[in-house]
Amino acid sequence: MSLHIFPTVKDLLLGGDYNPDQWLHRTDILDQDIDVMQSLGVNAVSLGIFAWSTLEPEEGRFEFDWLDERIDKLGKAGVHVFLATPTAARPMWLACKYPEVCLTLKDNSREYPKNRHNFCWTSLVYREKTARIIDQIAHRYANCETVIGWHINNEYGGYTDWARCYCDRCIASFQSWLKQRYNNDLEELNQAWWTHFWSHTYQNWDQIRPGDHSIEALGLNWYRYNADIMCNFLKHEIASIRTHCSKPVTTNMHGHLQLADYVKLAPELDFLSYDSYPRTYGKPDEELHNLYQESLFLNAIRSLKKDRPWYLIESCPSVPQYFHPQRLKRPGTHEMHSLRAIAHGSDSVMYFQFRAGRGSIEKHHGAILIQDGPTDTRVTREVRSLRQRLSNLNKILGSTCKTKVAIIFDTESIWGLENNHGGPTADQYNEIILKHYRALLELGLDVDVIDQTADFTDYQFITAPVAYMLQPNFVERIKSFVKHGGHFTTTYWSGITNDDLLCSPGGRLGDLRDLLGISSEEVDCLREDERVKLEDSGDWLGDHSESLSGQQYCELIHLNAAEQLAIYASEFYAGRPSLTRNQLGQGAAYYQAIGLPRDLLRNWYRSLLQRAGLVEFITNMPHGVMMTQRHKQNKTYLFVINMLGSTTQCDLPRDNWTSFADNSPAQSTCLRPYDVQIFVKSQ
Ligand SMILES: [Zn+2]
Repeated sequence: MSLHIFPTVKDLLLGGDYNPDQWLHRTDILDQDIDVMQSLGVNAVSLGIFAWSTLEPEEGRFEFDWLDERIDKLGKAGVHVFLATPTAARPMWLACKYPEVCLTLKDNSREYPKNRHNFCWTSLVYREKTARIIDQIAHRYANCETVIGWHINNEYGGYTDWARCYCDRCIASFQSWLKQRYNNDLEELNQAWWTHFWSHTYQNWDQIRPGDHSIEALGLNWYRYNADIMCNFLKHEIASIRTHCSKPVTTNMHGHLQLADYVKLAPELDFLSYDSYPRTYGKPDEELHNLYQESLFLNAIRSLKKDRPWYLIESCPSVPQYFHPQRLKRPGTHEMHSLRAIAHGSDSVMYFQFRAGRGSIEKHHGAILIQDGPTDTRVTREVRSLRQRLSNLNKILGSTCKTKVAIIFDTESIWGLENNHGGPTADQYNEIILKHYRALLELGLDVDVIDQTADFTDYQFITAPVAYMLQPNFVERIKSFVKHGGHFTTTYWSGITNDDLLCSPGGRLGDLRDLLGISSEEVDCLREDERVKLEDSGDWLGDHSESLSGQQYCELIHLNAAEQLAIYASEFYAGRPSLTRNQLGQGAAYYQAIGLPRDLLRNWYRSLLQRAGLVEFITNMPHGVMMTQRHKQNKTYLFVINMLGSTTQCDLPRDNWTSFADNSPAQSTCLRPYDVQIFVKSQ
């Protein structure tokens, strides 16, 4: 597969979800849709995502005439189609005739037919009926040139309790899954889950039911099982397409990356896509914080398939209906958000949705067109203007992102900490990761976001804040990374448990003790207002003109083979190490035992990156500016993004950059409010 993925696509994609099934009673609207798409430069839509009841109004009776006509008109207008499997919302007749397809809730009650994303993952009836509708669609449109790819389902896991089903069949399927994981050995499971505590020892597999929060590994493995059954359902949908068609498939990933195991889903997909809705209604600092968070998610998606672009398949040209307040995007921010996705490796800007409906739950979700209202609006003018900007960027089509720096942000760790008692919470883990990620971005670096199972060979520097739960073989692999010249750093609350939340053998840090050259006893969790003084034995934390202090967490560690770089200078553990380094082979492993405020964290990373030989960072990055790079053949494209509403001056990394717009040499640039500028260099 070429990096372009879609051989017939020659431009960056602009478009969105198109749901004409809401407007079939209005042919004037359907005609207007095509006219407006052409006038705005829309060249891609995701079609039919929730159209099952229109495609199959009663069991076994299919109506495709309307879809034939839509696809024909879209094709003639030059609009590419991602055709959907309409399986995320089932028809009323299906749920009423076969109640077993409905989700069973935690309290054992079965949901009545309603809502979406709420089917039973193991229902054979649901599998049969979804296979049949997909088969009909795939057979009919397999060779249609307008259809360039398949949009599977919608936002897997996007429902109450992540769409987990508690019916007897799903519970039995979970028990079978556990038998496989624990080699059909119940005592192995009892040991791994430490069930002898509180007399929870299982005598047979049928006794294992989700819901007992006192058995932490039970909850964690219930999450894992559900992620696996979700992946199994995705494969079922793809298999129904593959009977007829080999065109690329995707499913739209979404949210905070913990509603599914995207590491497992990604290999099943030909291209990745993501729905991006950064919250834009807070105060300026909150909004900036949210944009860094969204950047973390976008880079996590791109890092799952690094050899190809991903696709922004949903976003909002104005305001989603669930934002409170529905504060309008300020002039320039829609374009900045959209180009930011391109900067992070997307080859598209697409929205939910092309035209909002007149009724139901998403009628006030900002769309390109609002119901049957006017078509010349502030939003449509901004979309048209964005198309002009995108048309000038077609050279970057198919380019990818490469960086030597990665942060480990582990979905399994989030699940582990959600089921864990004591220690950091999942929310704290998310915030700590974001703080570290942001510190790296504030040095002008582009950062991949990977998990503990990723391939480390492309990187020179890896940071794994709060690596609380160690995946099998992770330490062995990271040790090899360091021995071969890599630089690795981690923090307090690392190596506490294995992947079943069982405390590490031999005490805290587990196998990390050898890699880091330290051992650990306990962690002091400070009050919010408390600070602990630090003494830096070198220049590790930058300017020493003011006294240094850390916050939040202080881990009490001992040196083994490592050297201390800083010590605690107050509290009852004054004099003990707080920052350490262990040289191993050609690389080094660092430990940050203390929580650092943002400026010191940035200085700490600057020191480590300099020692790792990574000098491509900016010494004075302006507040609110972010940089990313895309690569294609011998060209590198540098995106400089001003996320704030004020003008600022920014240095570029030292290199021979020229302006993408006019080819003039550039060493620094003046960024207008919400400006995105692009520079290029040849290798
Ligand atoms: Zn079920």
